[in-house]
Amino acid sequence: MILPIYVYGQPVLRKVAEDIAPDYPNLKELIENMFETMDHAEGVGLAAPQIGLPIRVVVINLDVLSEDLPEYKDFRKVYINAHILEVGGETVSMDEGCLSLPGIHESVKRGDKIRVKYLDENLEEHEEVVEGYLARVMQHEFDHLEGKMFIDHLSPLRKQMIKGKLNAMLKGKAHCTYKVKTVKK
Ligand SMILES: [Zn+2]
Repeated sequence: MILPIYVYGQPVLRKVAEDIAPDYPNLKELIENMFETMDHAEGVGLAAPQIGLPIRVVVINLDVLSEDLPEYKDFRKVYINAHILEVGGETVSMDEGCLSLPGIHESVKRGDKIRVKYLDENLEEHEEVVEGYLARVMQHEFDHLEGKMFIDHLSPLRKQMIKGKLNAMLKGKAHCTYKVKTVKK
């Protein structure tokens, strides 16, 4: 089932999300719905707060990029109770967008190497060091679990430049091809 994506201004996007218990109701169905919602909106990642749930569940699909980045062929993964333990490596700037911030694309500086822990779809625990593009996407998505969005990383000047678009979203205006839930709806 395709779910509406919560847009900037929705308070759930600013909450610190919580770990879930192994018996969280209908978890399998929730994960399927998150993949379907992400695919429909043509995103590479989606965090549960973006569908209105303040829980630490993230889906990532890098298969869509595998023409340019063959190492991500068939890469579709869910991360449950996901936490970043450490950010390091080199600081790299890259353009980011977000399904909860339609129409905004800005360059964001992030470390290119992280250490993370999470549970997979079988609720098995993993601790990994991740680099490159995946480390970028994970940081963006896992930020959502801390109540952060990529615009929080911008300079005051860049923030000023996108203020009009943000204010429009607060008034319920969001132009995109997928279903959204703004504060006014
Ligand atoms: Zn996002």
